[in-house]
Amino acid sequence: MRSIRVEAVTEPKRSALEAYTRQGRNRFESLLQEFVEIPSVSMDPSCRDDIQRMADLAVRTLQSMGATAKKVSTPGNPVVFGRFRQNRRFPTVTIYNHLDVQPAGEPEWRRTPFKFEIKGNRYLGRGATDDKGPAITALMAARYAVENRIPLNIQFVWELEEEIGSPNFESFVKTMRHDLRTDSVIVSDTIWVAAGRPSIPYGLRGMVAARLLLETGKKDVHSGLTGGAARNPVAELCQIVAACHDAKTGGVTIPGFYRDVMPPRLHEIREFAASGFRVSHFKKAHGLLDLRTHKGLKVMRRIWSEPTFEVHGISGGYQGPGVKTAIAPRAEAKVSMRLVPLQDPQKVLRLLRQHVKRMNPDVRVIPEGYLRPYLGACSGPYAQAARRAYRYAFGRDPAFIREGGSIGAVVTLERHLGVPILFLGLSLPEHGYHAPNEYFDWGQASGGIRAFVKYFTEISRIRS
Ligand SMILES: [Zn+2]
Repeated sequence: MRSIRVEAVTEPKRSALEAYTRQGRNRFESLLQEFVEIPSVSMDPSCRDDIQRMADLAVRTLQSMGATAKKVSTPGNPVVFGRFRQNRRFPTVTIYNHLDVQPAGEPEWRRTPFKFEIKGNRYLGRGATDDKGPAITALMAARYAVENRIPLNIQFVWELEEEIGSPNFESFVKTMRHDLRTDSVIVSDTIWVAAGRPSIPYGLRGMVAARLLLETGKKDVHSGLTGGAARNPVAELCQIVAACHDAKTGGVTIPGFYRDVMPPRLHEIREFAASGFRVSHFKKAHGLLDLRTHKGLKVMRRIWSEPTFEVHGISGGYQGPGVKTAIAPRAEAKVSMRLVPLQDPQKVLRLLRQHVKRMNPDVRVIPEGYLRPYLGACSGPYAQAARRAYRYAFGRDPAFIREGGSIGAVVTLERHLGVPILFLGLSLPEHGYHAPNEYFDWGQASGGIRAFVKYFTEISRIRS
């Protein structure tokens, strides 16, 4: 067992840190503007050049702050690696963020998604909160830590394929294994339970995504001439989707699906209950008119610690105004399943395939990526440091919760680096992760700088 020593390190001076944060606001805003105005949509092949521009800007930004930085190529998009290396005897922390963003085609956008705008304390634009704002926040805090000689080496890993499931992140970690040596990792890409209530997730759901394809003809046919005899691929896919889950309750009906699910332990449920989660806030933040259940604890358990089946879209057939009485020749359903510890994505995909095959052998199941679920620790010196950091910066203890989303890089980092991973997220539910009219705000950014600086101070004392 490794022994852990805790050394004396001077506290950050609150007044100096406040002044640094205040004076850095303009710089933060202009950096965020530059970052947001590059549409680094990893899902969209037409944004390939923007991804490269984003990586180049990230390298220049790290260098302008005094870090060394480079673009590391992978078979897909590059990963940006930067570092402030002060002394090899100091402990090292690696901060993970991603600089690719979700597409922004939703009709609800009230303004151009890739035009940055400041409205009071709010920073509007796609990627502002997920995850460009938190990345710049961490960088500004690191700059402060270096200027003020906090004895810590700080490294940055900025990915550009997070929103497509990190298909090449493992190849990056393997090539960079030597440079990536670190004592701990921070992932800053998560959402608080509510404004004013910091939270630290220690678990993430995994995911399997797939397309279901069915072709039953070569062209559109007339429902008067062929209807009744012709097969209808849209309807057959609806039947498959219905047979995979109960749309009313959300319960998954794929045989064997729940077999490996590990339910949350009692102390976890107690933490959930004390997290400050409110069903009304949850509904409002996400613009949900109704829910499958209205009990707070049930909602938390469902989004954090239970698996799901979702249909994201069924396409095929006529989509224009009115009704055109044609029968489509082919259809496609886009589905995914969120997984929880100890479900195995490959095994779940196999169960889906078997179930679909039994129902309708003509339907092709095309996998579109998978991620393992993750369960980390909610105690120990790093969790303690994070607890102190949030209390120092935001005046409240964080709640330890799980998160319903998936971050593929986390599982990869855990497997290859084998060091503690802590989540220091700054986004709020109302910021609109993956949603139209996304924004970040100065309250979270300035508090975030304070929190990171305090966290750096705390962990610089941990010598393993
Ligand atoms: Zn993100």
